[in-house]
Amino acid sequence: MNLELSEEQTAVRRLAKDFVDREIAPNVVAWDRAEEVDRAVVKKLGEVGFLGLTIDEEYGGSGGDHLAYCLVTEELGRGDSSVRGIVSVSLGLVTKTIQAYGTEEQKREWIPRLTAGEALGCFGLTEPGTGSDAGNLTTRAVRDGDDYVLNGSKMFITNGTWADVVLLFARSTDAPGHKGVSAFLVPADTPGLTRRTIHGKLGLRGQATAELTLEDVRVPATALLGPEGKGFSIAMAALAKGRMSVAAGCVGIAQAALDAAVGYAGEREQFGKSIASYQLVQELISDIAVDVDAARLLTWRVADLIDRGESFATAASQAKLFASEAAVRAANNALQVFGGYGYIDEYPVGKLLRDARVMTLYEGTSQIQKLIIGRALTGVSAF
Ligand SMILES: Cc1cc2nc3c(=O)[nH]c(=O)nc-3n(C[C@H](O)[C@H](O)[C@H](O)COP(=O)(O)OP(=O)(O)OC[C@H]3O[C@@H](n4cnc5c(N)ncnc54)[C@H](O)[C@@H]3O)c2cc1C
Repeated sequence: MNLELSEEQTAVRRLAKDFVDREIAPNVVAWDRAEEVDRAVVKKLGEVGFLGLTIDEEYGGSGGDHLAYCLVTEELGRGDSSVRGIVSVSLGLVTKTIQAYGTEEQKREWIPRLTAGEALGCFGLTEPGTGSDAGNLTTRAVRDGDDYVLNGSKMFITNGTWADVVLLFARSTDAPGHKGVSAFLVPADTPGLTRRTIHGKLGLRGQATAELTLEDVRVPATALLGPEGKGFSIAMAALAKGRMSVAAGCVGIAQAALDAAVGYAGEREQFGKSIASYQLVQELISDIAVDVDAARLLTWRVADLIDRGESFATAASQAKLFASEAAVRAANNALQVFGGYGYIDEYPVGKLLRDARVMTLYEGTSQIQKLIIGRALTGVSAF
């Protein structure tokens, strides 16, 4: 793997950095307090091409490889994980999945609007009773003539109240466990689909997280994405690549923690000297720096494997596991460097810690990542 970025990758990283510094950084505290990022940012993300990375240009995508995607995701994570998550879900889990499994008609219907930021996607897998055990989901899709009728509920859905299309996973056959699950593209304005915002999140407060309820939601059979009964493997394939995106976002959090800690340590004086001169403070900072580099290298490795067409799922779990735990450690260490000021939201590190905390939970908890890695190494599944 060549660790030197190409001219194109360097340019996209610069573009992302400028975008974050101009469009996101000045608003972060206000969006967090308001519990909502300004929705105008979605259109701007589309205009700058960040919602079309890795997507074919014929569908309005902006192309680029997975390393470029990681570089942008990292920068967005450095700026605001709420914004990063909007992109990771709409592009990473929904648009990329439509590109991979959609019919020509489905691609033409959804991808140009999603890449332009004129529409948003959400990923409806988790239910109130099934999180880690997603293969046992209970939402039903019953065939009725040329339609399917959907009933059930979905929990913790990122972009849920903002989305125009739900990539929804439902049980459509009597086959047991994950074998009976199919994927559907459900327009969010379909009658019978209601959405409730979930308030009171520890972090990611700017993001619209929702519970979706489906009561006799009727969609045409053409809403089926991929073959019937293959929905769970479609979901798992989406999440494998999604884990790279989460990991890259975590690198951004850890980098922001490092930048903040170094800056503050250089300014703050105690006992007549800069706190940066104390070895115990330097230890906190060096621990963050090592976490940043290790997480970044594990994440870039996943991008490299994907771009070379190699197997990447275990590497993605390793990157997601390490980077998410590292982001929590890094933000916590940075908060320690800030002392009491770190506990106040005028300073950036408290939010970094709150946002980082969910990264070890969603898109597969740390325990689930360990089971995936363990299964790959031993050949024995714990599920
Ligand atoms: C802010 C936020 C956004 C989210 N966005 C989305 C989204 O867009 N779409 C979506 O579908 N979901 C989303 N989720 C859901 C998320 O993916 C789930 O919360 C996650 O998969 C964990 O499921 P759970 O919360 O039901 O926890 P549970 O599965 O109940 O797990 C509880 C605990 O038990 C452990 N555990 C469970 N099974 C095992 C096992 N076999 N071995 C060892 N330990 C185990 C877990 O690691 C965890 O510590 C989101 C969640 C949050 C909080």
